[in-house]
Amino acid sequence: MLIVMDRTATQADVEGVVAAVERMGLRAHPIPGVQRTAIGITGNRGVVEPTALENLPGVLEVIKVSHPYKLVSREFHPDDTVVSIGGVPVGGTRVVLVAGPCAVETFERTVAIAVAVKARGAHLLRGGAFKPRTSPYSFQGHGEEGLRMLAAAREASGLPVVTEVLDTGAVDLVARYADCLQIGARNMQNFELLKAVGKTGKPVLLKRGMAATLEEFLLAAEYVLNEGNPNVVLCERGVRTFSDFTRNTLDLAVIPAVERISHLPILADPSHGTGRRHKVAPMSRAAVAAGADGLVIEVHDRPEEALSDGPQALTPDAFGDLVSQLGPIAAAVGRSL
Ligand code: PEP
Ligand code: MN
Repeated sequence: MLIVMDRTATQADVEGVVAAVERMGLRAHPIPGVQRTAIGITGNRGVVEPTALENLPGVLEVIKVSHPYKLVSREFHPDDTVVSIGGVPVGGTRVVLVAGPCAVETFERTVAIAVAVKARGAHLLRGGAFKPRTSPYSFQGHGEEGLRMLAAAREASGLPVVTEVLDTGAVDLVARYADCLQIGARNMQNFELLKAVGKTGKPVLLKRGMAATLEEFLLAAEYVLNEGNPNVVLCERGVRTFSDFTRNTLDLAVIPAVERISHLPILADPSHGTGRRHKVAPMSRAAVAAGADGLVIEVHDRPEEALSDGPQALTPDAFGDLVSQLGPIAAAVGRSL
């Protein structure tokens, strides 16, 4: 924290701020300048509440230098975190491919899609049994029956399963079936849910809220880590902007931004990030080039019949074509598939 004094501040004002900082159990370091004095604050373990200092006489501005998150930061943990999802490492040199239908629909279809994406290079299966839908009239998912479909598809394909949990009451149930618990964009700031998935110790795929800042995104992850669960994989899935040609705007710049300040792996979801099938492959290629640790891609054998998110689903063959394009891009940025 840095306190910038007004140009008209007196020596007594500076001393008043120093005394206030010391009363908070912190150390104040006045840095006199030609125009004004700045006062550095050290000794704080967490965040210093700036409002107490902002209103002292002579104070112009209080600037946060350190961040409110700690456990997710590289300062705290310099090395990249690699999260194992059912034995599949996420965050290592290999770019991980997470594929599957938006919602699981039937046993046969879920198994068939799982086997098809596995054959084309997917490492993890993702599908929703509990679906957060904008409309209450849209398909809400098969619930526990859907979890059983995912378990059958894991059995048939060998792919570990990622699936969404919508509320605290369902955490134990979903955790019994899933290898990784997804927290969707709409729940990124459901703090009780974040704490609950944190307590399970299971890997968590945390999607960025559609209007979340980077700081809010990382603080959401901090909730999970704060419960003693370091197994968090972040996922950029697009944010809402004025753009009228995509469902969301995939904010690929957040990938290097996260990489710089956090040790957690980050995936990109070009399916929800664009909402349109023809944009999924280009944005997938761009995400890998930007350094994403993996991709989340919706795949359906008959997208036109899908009960959820059909317009953004790739067929298994289109997914396979995309995978074959990604190898050289991954290699160009020092990764492999
Ligand atoms: C999903 O992954 O199917 C989903 C609902 O995504 P999001 O939470 O990013 O909208
Ligand atoms: Mn979806």
